[in-house]
Amino acid sequence: MRIAQVLIPLPLPEAFDYAEPEAMSLAVGDVVAAPLGPRLVRGVVTGLRDGAGVNRPLKLVAGRIETPPLPPQSLAFVEWAARYAVDQPGQPLAIALRGSTAPKERPQRVAQLTGKAPARMTPARERVLAAAAGAELAPAALARAAGVSAGVVSALIADGVLAEAFRETAVDFAPPDPEHARPTLNPSQAAALTELERLVASDRFGVALLDGVTGSGKTEVYLEAAAAALRRAPDAQVLILLPEIALTEAVIARIAARFGAEPAAWHSGVAPQRRRRVWEAVARGKCRIVVGARSALFLPFAKLRLIVVDEEHDGSYKQEDGFIYQARDLAVARAKLGDAPVVLASATPSLETLWNAETGRYRWLRLASRHGGALLPTISLVDLRASPPEPGRWLSPPLIIAMKEALTRGEQALLFLNRRGYAPVVLCRACGERLSAPDSDSWLVEHRYSGRLVCHLTGFSMPKPDRCPHCGAKQSLVSVGPGVERVEEEARELFPDARLAVFSSDTVAGPDAARELIAAMAEGEIDILVATQGAAKGHNFPNLTLVGVVDADLGLRGGDLRAAERTFQLLAQVAGRAGRWQKPGRALLQTWAPEHPVMQALAAQDRDAFVALEMAEREAAGLPPFGRLAAVIVSGSDAAALDGFVRDFAAAAPNAEGVDVFGPADAPFSLVRGRRRKRFLVRADRAVDLQAFLAAWRARTKVPGSVRLTIDVDPYSFL
Ligand SMILES: [Zn+2]
Repeated sequence: MRIAQVLIPLPLPEAFDYAEPEAMSLAVGDVVAAPLGPRLVRGVVTGLRDGAGVNRPLKLVAGRIETPPLPPQSLAFVEWAARYAVDQPGQPLAIALRGSTAPKERPQRVAQLTGKAPARMTPARERVLAAAAGAELAPAALARAAGVSAGVVSALIADGVLAEAFRETAVDFAPPDPEHARPTLNPSQAAALTELERLVASDRFGVALLDGVTGSGKTEVYLEAAAAALRRAPDAQVLILLPEIALTEAVIARIAARFGAEPAAWHSGVAPQRRRRVWEAVARGKCRIVVGARSALFLPFAKLRLIVVDEEHDGSYKQEDGFIYQARDLAVARAKLGDAPVVLASATPSLETLWNAETGRYRWLRLASRHGGALLPTISLVDLRASPPEPGRWLSPPLIIAMKEALTRGEQALLFLNRRGYAPVVLCRACGERLSAPDSDSWLVEHRYSGRLVCHLTGFSMPKPDRCPHCGAKQSLVSVGPGVERVEEEARELFPDARLAVFSSDTVAGPDAARELIAAMAEGEIDILVATQGAAKGHNFPNLTLVGVVDADLGLRGGDLRAAERTFQLLAQVAGRAGRWQKPGRALLQTWAPEHPVMQALAAQDRDAFVALEMAEREAAGLPPFGRLAAVIVSGSDAAALDGFVRDFAAAAPNAEGVDVFGPADAPFSLVRGRRRKRFLVRADRAVDLQAFLAAWRARTKVPGSVRLTIDVDPYSFL
């Protein structure tokens, strides 16, 4: 008898032992059904060993599930990711199995010619026969293709001229052709590609940073690196990671044009049946290019030869709920497990990546200029102390003048404010109370389109009351500060003839709506677009020549580790939207602190100066990339139990050289959904095994049932 270790995609500490039924001959990676308590659950075999001499009774594996097994590299990656995140391996396994559990696509009904001639021929019947000879279609589609009523087709079926059959949906993806439409690269692109081709040809792990300003042609270069990887073997696979679903359509279209075949998309917007098809085709090596969000890293690639992480600096690569991970870092680890190269692409690389490039760990490939002769926009600061907007307004006179000029020339303007809704704070004039969520310590944000007050932390919402909930005063509530809806209102009053639109997650419900709005902007159907960061990323608007940043200081106020870096990256990217084609563009940044180093670096377009300054500050504090950081959040609804645990947990912190533990302190949001939250921050020198420290710390105390402990390695949001 053999014992199978089965890892179950649930938050459990380890794989469980089961007995292998005779004649099942399991292999590592097999997906099986196994009993867990009263239920049958899905799991993956992670090990097999001889069961001779084992006396304890073991439950039997119930059966093997008909799906491709998880390849060894995927299993190793799941285990690596769990250790990295100091979490249970069942958590990343759940992500890895997500595509295998969806229902299969149903077979499709088609009408086929039988060869029998119709007893009586009519022009309508002739058209049906011609259409049926050209393609296998469902009866209704065949009638449409022939331009006849459904009755004509059913009569032909009744006559035996056509027969119905069932076709499985094609399981494989059309193979990409690396020679389909090779572009002409400029010298700078060609030089970068030569380096990448060398890296791909080595069949070894290596990381390259593809560093170039917005519009320098990074996508073309990494698609050529993908072509080089595809040429290595007929079953070689390439993964391209993107930070936002909204960007996938544009990249998919470019890949289809370059390789003559559509790649597979992988993100939360893909229908379950389609996901299953992608998952299985990836496992069988029949899907060669995947364009996806961070979870695509967990797909069961049979022969992954290249990973591209586009916009590698983007904070969206950090998964903050459930299994917490940074997809860019995991992409590097995944590539290492498969001896494959990684390309990190960005116009404003993260400090971590720049540090790796500066110290020679990563190859640093810089693309020189804007592609196709387009000019970089000029960036200027509007000092709000010298040129303030009218009271209760948010657009300064210089920005209004620039908008007028752009609109007069028939060009477009983008007003950027990274804040959803109408007003971030609602205040009572009578009693001074700010309206906050009932179960969280966050302010309620007024949304005028929906007429509701919304908590952006938890999604709680309520209709805007006509009386103050605290003092009962009537019509005493005032909206304080701007959100995109309020900026739109102001722009509409200033430019009543202009066509306006708002791009935020409240106005754009999903990928389809985003695509429509982006297309309308690209085609010049919108004059002024008011947008949060979704519109700042990656899109090309040929007639957009003015970008106005309403509140350039907004991102700096949080004061967390990456506030300056994030603000610089985001605003550089937003400003880069202006004048990407033949028309010169300009960006105006409204700021109360024009002397701030971030604003100065943006105005001078001097990324290197900003990076040098920020690096020096991080180095002095021993913070990433010069040290390691983790947050431990402990939360619970029972205050006494929480406080007791926090005390015990603080006392249990292991003593370790090169590690500082800060806290416990109230987390910045100290109450969320009725749960109080306390936070520890752990800073460690680079040489310290931070994960081992955290795992040892957690193992020293028993977490009571009412308390939740979450470890966030390399925290981004600091909430
Ligand atoms: Zn009041």
